[in-house]
Amino acid sequence: MKKIFAVLFVSLLILSCKQDQNGEAISYSITFDKDNIKVAKVKVEFTPKDSILFMDHGATNFDKGWATFIYNIKAVNDEGEPVELEEIPGAKWKINAPLHEKIVLTYDVHLDHEDYEWDGGIDGVAYTTDRGVFYTGRTLFIMNGEQRKNITVDFKLPPNWRVTTPWKNIKAVASSYLVRDNTDLANAMIFAGTHKEISLKRDDFEFVFALGTTEIINEEAIFQSLAEGVLDYYIELMGGIPRPSPDSPFKKMVVVISSHPSITDGEVIGNNISILIQKDADQFSKTISRFIFAHEFFHLWNGKSFRPDSENGEWFKEGLTNYYTLKALHHIGFLTDETYLDFLSNFFYKRYHDDNGLGRLAMANGEEKHEHWGLVYGGGMLAGIAQDMLIRDATNNAKSMDDLMRSLFNKYGNSNDDYTLEELKIMMSELSGIEQTEFFNSYVSGTEKIPIDSYLTLAGLDANIDNGNLIISKKEHQTQQQRKIMEGLFGQLKSER
Ligand SMILES: [Zn+2]
Repeated sequence: MKKIFAVLFVSLLILSCKQDQNGEAISYSITFDKDNIKVAKVKVEFTPKDSILFMDHGATNFDKGWATFIYNIKAVNDEGEPVELEEIPGAKWKINAPLHEKIVLTYDVHLDHEDYEWDGGIDGVAYTTDRGVFYTGRTLFIMNGEQRKNITVDFKLPPNWRVTTPWKNIKAVASSYLVRDNTDLANAMIFAGTHKEISLKRDDFEFVFALGTTEIINEEAIFQSLAEGVLDYYIELMGGIPRPSPDSPFKKMVVVISSHPSITDGEVIGNNISILIQKDADQFSKTISRFIFAHEFFHLWNGKSFRPDSENGEWFKEGLTNYYTLKALHHIGFLTDETYLDFLSNFFYKRYHDDNGLGRLAMANGEEKHEHWGLVYGGGMLAGIAQDMLIRDATNNAKSMDDLMRSLFNKYGNSNDDYTLEELKIMMSELSGIEQTEFFNSYVSGTEKIPIDSYLTLAGLDANIDNGNLIISKKEHQTQQQRKIMEGLFGQLKSER
């Protein structure tokens, strides 16, 4: 009797575990129709964890948020009987049914997002192209329960279509994916259609590019070599692939690149990048689109692998990323010495000089970074260049800002710890052997303007500021050390010297 009881107890335990696991599971199935590409049909099967269905935050210019584009939402229980859903404010619905039963939710997403203006641009929302459809996860998924595990997404595609996502494939099923959590669902970028996909693998890290329009596909070779060149430059510089914090691991990221009739813009959501490039772009738009791409790419290291512990380090995160972006674009041959210096003075210096926060706010006011791009992103870059020049000059080019980036990567990669502003100051002082308290007090935490012209002369450049313009040219006669420092400014790595 005792034995029977024990067996019964154990099997009950197994049964309840199984139910628990099933209770965690939620599966999405998304159907695209090539004759009606502006509608995505979504079917969701799950047992509710609570009574609320919700979409991600955002689309705040609409009363209903992302739900503005949801139509024909319905739910039925396991017996096929209707389940009452009550729409509530904030892109939410309340389920008026018992919570322990499995339900099937269906809805349509109308891809009408392009009919409206978006603060961050359509590149971070959803759009159609001549090759298919682009959705960010937040526009597509209605979720339930905060701590979901076992999220699967399956796509039903028209013939000849493919889909690009940042998720892990379920083995042997090309268009089925396993998603880690609701955040990875909402932050995803998805392109479905007859677009071109390029995959770059480095160690166990995968970078997937979706070229979303015919115009971009026609330049596939250019984009492939740009992506590979920039990626390999960063890996060589840092000494390895990105090492994100254990709390938000990722091994795969998506970069979507499409052309657009009138916009050049870029947006990052989670670890994914979306870029639009204006059709028949002029040289400046071309430079900006490559700049956006290379900038966001570098954040996989400076931003995701090591991070400031407060807003007061944003100038370093953004400014040094700008600096290394320029170096990377020079390294791959997109910028020449002359166009590099031109971009530095006529874009970055100008944005810094023209920022109305300059002289009034400090670049360490990182919370102002969007209002004062010139001060934080531009000024941070100039502070980084000044320090790089100082370190190279003081060490006969044996040390540089590259060493500082690698130290931060080695110390903070794969950890949840963050660096402090004080630590940056100490590291810079140690590298040059010159105490940098005054520099930080004046230009970083203070509101004085960086005399970037005098720092640039250390690289054998003639630099002066005339009427708010930074004018730079190469000195006719440079010492050998100056020439080496200049090559460092342009992005030459120690391994190439
Ligand atoms: Zn950035």
